[in-house]
Amino acid sequence: MRTRTSNLDLIRNLGILAHVDAGKTTVTERILYATGTTHKRGEVHDGTTVTDFDPQERDRGITIFAAAVSCGWDGHRINLIDTPGHVDFADEVERALRVLDGAVAVFDAVAGVEPQSESVWRQADRHGVPRIAFVNKMDRAGADLDAAVDSIRGRLHPVPLVVQLPIGSEDGFTGVVDLVRMRALVWSEGAEAAEEGPVPDALREEAARRRRLLEEAVAERHPAALEEFCDRETLTADTLVSALRDLTRGGDGVVVLCGSAYRNRGVEPLLDAVVAYLPSPLDVPPVRGTRDGARDERPADPRAPMTALAFKVNATPTGRLTYLRVYSGTLEKGDTVWDAGTRRTERVARILRVRADRHDPLERAVAGDIVAVVGLKAARAGSTLCAPGDPLVLEPPGVAEPVVHVA
Ligand code: GDP
Repeated sequence: MRTRTSNLDLIRNLGILAHVDAGKTTVTERILYATGTTHKRGEVHDGTTVTDFDPQERDRGITIFAAAVSCGWDGHRINLIDTPGHVDFADEVERALRVLDGAVAVFDAVAGVEPQSESVWRQADRHGVPRIAFVNKMDRAGADLDAAVDSIRGRLHPVPLVVQLPIGSEDGFTGVVDLVRMRALVWSEGAEAAEEGPVPDALREEAARRRRLLEEAVAERHPAALEEFCDRETLTADTLVSALRDLTRGGDGVVVLCGSAYRNRGVEPLLDAVVAYLPSPLDVPPVRGTRDGARDERPADPRAPMTALAFKVNATPTGRLTYLRVYSGTLEKGDTVWDAGTRRTERVARILRVRADRHDPLERAVAGDIVAVVGLKAARAGSTLCAPGDPLVLEPPGVAEPVVHVA
């Protein structure tokens, strides 16, 4: 059978956006670790991180190349697309934003919004990418979640929906109160996972106050939540979750979480939030393009004509890898595709699922997925690839870019 229509709702094409130094690499690394993709914790300072695989990049401490890595969480597949935080690579961020369905914006709990987080945020606004905010480095001296949230609200103008209350501060930051489920998550020294428990007595009043603020902010913007709030004067956790999902996906609010990636605190709740709130490929509008000069669109349906965007080309020891986002249809190993950039057809010799530590061969990739392919010799980042009999040139037109050579 050529197609499979199910499971698209279990995919999250996710980008991590941040100012340089906010902790994007560390968050990415911890996500790969938490999802079991890597078994050794990479440390940024010793140059063993998985996504920063270019030596030049390691040397400079700047994430230059967007690498897409697949990992699993709670029955979902998360395709993690690394995006450069450095302002010199705005084009690359722009291209990555075209293939994402949702993003985590990482902020420094001391610095709050920094100039580059602002420019990346605006780019994400232009692309309509739903976001979650992760206030990182809660363990640092001077870390302040409320001040960081004020800076996000004041400079980026979203409606922040703060779903956690920190437990402890600076060096004593040990966990969070999850304000949706009203439970405490505590990471003890050296522990692999959070321990769940009741809200500590000392924080009960403050947690209740903040839960109330969250409920009010949600009810004000979500009709079904407002109805329940008026009836019962409170919201159930399930209503909160579904309203937060709608607000996030509609771009009407930004869920805010916090943690310390470096200390591996807060990453599992972040992954839970990615799965709960950010959209799947089915929840985003159909991709648009032009066909024979006329506007056309394609749904995220494996049975539709195949349309994909090449968003990254890397020359690696495995061969020339072209990273693709498949928007519609099904791409089979051995298929011939038409490249709207070169106006030539080429054959896809292999399809790979890129994991942190290996490439898994695939027979096919379906709408919504992100994969790497081998065999394309001429495709450039920005090229549309489509079924030869059914060309569609994706908007905006692709930008040709030279191949990046990775040692
Ligand atoms: P990127 O430039 O955004 O990719 O940031 P990195 O992940 O490379 O982190 C920048 C620096 O901040 C590194 O020295 C990290 O070790 C450090 N760092 C990252 N996360 C945390 C954190 O949660 N707490 C503290 N104290 N330092 C962190």
